[in-house]
Amino acid sequence: MNYAEVAVSSPLAQPRTFCYAIPPDMFVSVGQAVWVPFGPRMVQGLVFAVSDEPAVEETREIAELIDPRPMLSPHQVELARWLSERYLSPLFDAAASMLPPGFERRVLTFIEPVSSPSEAALASLNAKQREMLLLLQRWGKVELGQLKKKLKRERVDLVIDQLLRKGLVTKTKELERAKVSPKLVPYLGLAVAAERARQEIPVLDHRRAYQQAKLLALIAESGLISLSEVRRLGFSTSVVQALKEKGLIAVEQLRVQRDPLAHRSFEKTSPPKLTPAQEAAWHEIRESLRRLSSAEHRDGTPVFLLHGVTGSGKTEIYLCALDQAIALGRRAIVLVPEIALTPQTIGRFSARFPGRVAVLHSKLSLGEQFDEWQRIRDGAFDVVIGSRSAVFAPQPDLGLIVIDEEHEWTYKQQEQSPRYHAREVAIKLAQLTRSAVILGSATPDLESYHQAQIGDYRLLQLPERIAQAKLPKVEIVDMRQELKQGNRSIFSRSLFQAITKALTAGEQVILFLNRRGTASFVQCRDCGFVLRCRRCDISLTYHGTQDSLICHQCSYKMPVPRICPSCFSRRIKFLGIGTQRIAEEVAKAFPQARLLRWDRDVTRGKYSHEEILDRFLSHDADILIGTQMIAKGLDLPLVTLVGVINADIGLYFPDFHSSERTFQILTQVAGRAGRGILEGRVIMQSYSPEHYAIAAAAEHDYHAFYEREFAFRRQQGTPPFNRLARLVYSHTNATLCQREAERMQQVLRAEIDSWGLPETSVIGPAPAYTQRVRGRYRWQIIIRSPDPLTILGQVPIPQGWVVDIDPISLI
Ligand code: ADP
Ligand code: ZN
Ligand code: ZN
Repeated sequence: MNYAEVAVSSPLAQPRTFCYAIPPDMFVSVGQAVWVPFGPRMVQGLVFAVSDEPAVEETREIAELIDPRPMLSPHQVELARWLSERYLSPLFDAAASMLPPGFERRVLTFIEPVSSPSEAALASLNAKQREMLLLLQRWGKVELGQLKKKLKRERVDLVIDQLLRKGLVTKTKELERAKVSPKLVPYLGLAVAAERARQEIPVLDHRRAYQQAKLLALIAESGLISLSEVRRLGFSTSVVQALKEKGLIAVEQLRVQRDPLAHRSFEKTSPPKLTPAQEAAWHEIRESLRRLSSAEHRDGTPVFLLHGVTGSGKTEIYLCALDQAIALGRRAIVLVPEIALTPQTIGRFSARFPGRVAVLHSKLSLGEQFDEWQRIRDGAFDVVIGSRSAVFAPQPDLGLIVIDEEHEWTYKQQEQSPRYHAREVAIKLAQLTRSAVILGSATPDLESYHQAQIGDYRLLQLPERIAQAKLPKVEIVDMRQELKQGNRSIFSRSLFQAITKALTAGEQVILFLNRRGTASFVQCRDCGFVLRCRRCDISLTYHGTQDSLICHQCSYKMPVPRICPSCFSRRIKFLGIGTQRIAEEVAKAFPQARLLRWDRDVTRGKYSHEEILDRFLSHDADILIGTQMIAKGLDLPLVTLVGVINADIGLYFPDFHSSERTFQILTQVAGRAGRGILEGRVIMQSYSPEHYAIAAAAEHDYHAFYEREFAFRRQQGTPPFNRLARLVYSHTNATLCQREAERMQQVLRAEIDSWGLPETSVIGPAPAYTQRVRGRYRWQIIIRSPDPLTILGQVPIPQGWVVDIDPISLI
């Protein structure tokens, strides 16, 4: 093979590879990381294919291998290709998620003044050049990027070029320092045979070198001992030095693992006897795993949707499946949403497979991530648990992928390319590796459930909680009635009494506030009416600066009415409240209660989630006030009451997912109560109790919700009836931003007309929900189509545009 197709790390690279010649003495294979020249610079690249014939006439040569071992396995190369096509992302970006943490490095250019400049050259300098040279002489060697940053606005490149030509400065290229590397720790070991060392001990003693004798004896006995341990035991540097000089011991640098689970310990637990419902679900998965590992496998990729109410024993099923996969010689990846938030989950997995579980998530230090990645690739773990990006872990012999809480929107990458959904990636990865996928949730994503309905996924149900534990009773309180009866507090009478009762009984209370979307919509406090766009049927967003309401889908705009159009009340402008405000109100109403607040503001540190949770679990507080985070899979046995301050918030978020999210979060919050032996109770306060998302959540009725929401989606033509693509353009200049968005819209329309795609529509352009981010204006276009990729594949997408395929949010 003489040529390689290489995906290069460059913003100019597009979703394609470039052909490079392989130098005669270099062995290059698919998946290998290389340095290649690209334009004027040297960049990192990944080999996607090798061939005998060049794809183009002129090729440049690969400069160097970054690592002799391929960075990507063949199926990861395939996965990267698929990601690039599916999410319209550059190939290198698509593969980058699979590379070791801290892998990406640049080649830096350094400028340095020569030590003895020629007089003639110096004499020929103009003022600008002289000024630059003086600066360089003061600073010495500097990196070009840094230099440009320091000397903003000046034409650095030009002046440097002139100085280079006059031979007054030199230019060198160096590789950026590695961001992470293996952690090495000094150890002391014997430099001579053990017998010989033992003979030396009495000799040293005899010479009154007691400390040396003692240390030598210790090393002779223990083999290797770390230098820090030797210091801790009180041996001085001179003692170590003396033994070294006598040639009796030597220092060795040993690689140690940075272990994210080091601060925790686990006892091995054994599985409980499965309930009949669990047994039935488990039977199907077990058979499927067996067939997958046998030669007769022909059934395509098994994807199970495990729909089970909170506390129905889903996690137990995952554990069984993992056990089975391991028994069959395969390994697994388990995805959980934002892993730092569920230390209990990690604990449960680690306890079942002690020492065989790796954890990957973004809160680990880069060093910890790097070490875990290397060990995973070496096959050190049976199970990798992680958040979204752990789906790219280099787990060998993959046989099973589990996604817990599969409906969670954190599984979608929204920030950077590739904007993938971990569920989609997991299923593709399973196809490539002949693995099985288990998706678990109490409130499956509507689209997943639809897949199960049409038979693409296999539906498994766990309709009951374990051990006769009942789902808590949910009471909905109509806050409009409270107001009518003269109660202006944020607590309904019912919630107030229930809190009092729980506190008296020494039980715990959770007060939940759905903060997403607070203060973004305008609601009538008397009748609950929310203003919606007549065209898009999503709620209008309040903009305080203009005191107006705007539709973020079609840019319809209207002033805030003074009077409610529905009931003529004047109390139309009622915006949300925050956790801070609730904490104050709680402190006023229940001065004896010990409060704990759990929201983004108080959970910045690495382990503070665990600390807060531990404090609440050990009953250091009576009331926990929190947002979304408290809704996630926690087991809190003393909690008997969950109060939802305003169940409607979120419902009026201007997005087609808002009902679904509200239903999911309320169902989850309701699932927090009554997990232990005590019976639980949930009170939801609402201004629109008749809304189906709230009513269904209160009844724990997924099917009722699904039917209504499905009909709504059909009527709106939103997924799963169509697929969406969101195009966002940003620019520092508001007018140019809008103009480019309009131009793009026309291009798209024309393309759709010329191809005759009546089922494809273009919505917008409209200002994005967050109109300005870091000084850049943002406009967006939505494409709604059975397959947005057909049209997007035809249109060149200029720099500045961000394309999100199957966005989970349009705002
Ligand atoms: P889910 O993941 O659906 O919320 P879990 O798997 O966490 O449910 O189960 C809820 C509780 O019931 C946990 O404390 C778990 O240990 C326990 N449990 C699960 N399966 C069984 C079983 N078959 N027998 C006894 N206890 C079980
Ligand atoms: Zn009203
Ligand atoms: Zn609209």
